[in-house]
Amino acid sequence: MRAARFHGPGDLRVEDVPDPRPGPGDVLVQVDVALTDGTDLKAYRRGHPLLLSKLPSLFGHEFCGTEVATGRRVVAANSAPCGTCAACGRGEEAQCENLLPLLNGAYAELLVVPARIAGTNLLPVPRSLSSEVAALMEPLACCLHGVERAEVREGQTVAVLGAGPIGLMLCACIADAGARPVLVGGRAQRRALGPDFGAEPGDGAGADVAIEATGTAKGWRDAVTLVRRGGTAVAFSGLPARTEVPLDARRIHYEELTLRGAFHHTPRTVRAALAFLASGARPWEKLLTHEVSLDGLPGLFAEPPDGYLKAIVRL
Ligand SMILES: [Zn+2]
Repeated sequence: MRAARFHGPGDLRVEDVPDPRPGPGDVLVQVDVALTDGTDLKAYRRGHPLLLSKLPSLFGHEFCGTEVATGRRVVAANSAPCGTCAACGRGEEAQCENLLPLLNGAYAELLVVPARIAGTNLLPVPRSLSSEVAALMEPLACCLHGVERAEVREGQTVAVLGAGPIGLMLCACIADAGARPVLVGGRAQRRALGPDFGAEPGDGAGADVAIEATGTAKGWRDAVTLVRRGGTAVAFSGLPARTEVPLDARRIHYEELTLRGAFHHTPRTVRAALAFLASGARPWEKLLTHEVSLDGLPGLFAEPPDGYLKAIVRL
């Protein structure tokens, strides 16, 4: 099969590789479309200790495809909790001690969905939903989980820092929870999409909750800076290993801020995300700004085009 493989930072090659062979319980999928995402771009630039540990490595995790054995159209999340560890027992499935191995290799004609994921987080795609939009399930599931972690309540004002695809999807989830998302910062071209996802522009000062989706230490600090007294700041995006972020101790103590992390998704938010996409409540397709063939993918990562949010990779 043809597949894009990561050979090292900045070195992605489209190659002929042996077809993957599914083990017991694994599900073989013929990939129809894959989507690029921010994590992939970060990993392309600097590598990734978990996803790309053995080189060359298959790459990509957002996809929609056809289950080879049944012919049905499916999407899958990139992991599934084990259901038996202590974290799963506490209902903290994003903290499952056995999340690995993650699904990886969506930028390829064929993809193996590991047995655990196939059993929990592989879902059939509703007929009315396009494959391109269905492939947004995993990042949207992360956003729904993030909004749960933020404990957003009806009527609250929620600042979202970062106007990338994640920031926009967070806004849609916040609006759906009955709160008021305010999109802070970002390029004008991206901010212009805010209203489509329920957001209004603003500086976010005094928000009840601030959710950071910038991928920068500054974003984390800004979230702590701009929430109201007694407010909640949520660190949604991951920073490079060993990053330390200085935070305003005075605010956190005297003004009783709550600081929370949000990572990944749960089987419940995975299902909810697919339903949210299928609802047609938002023009999700506007997040898919570009389209490339597999051969065009290395060039896209090397030089993301103007106005790029996410790209459809057609297999
Ligand atoms: Zn577990």
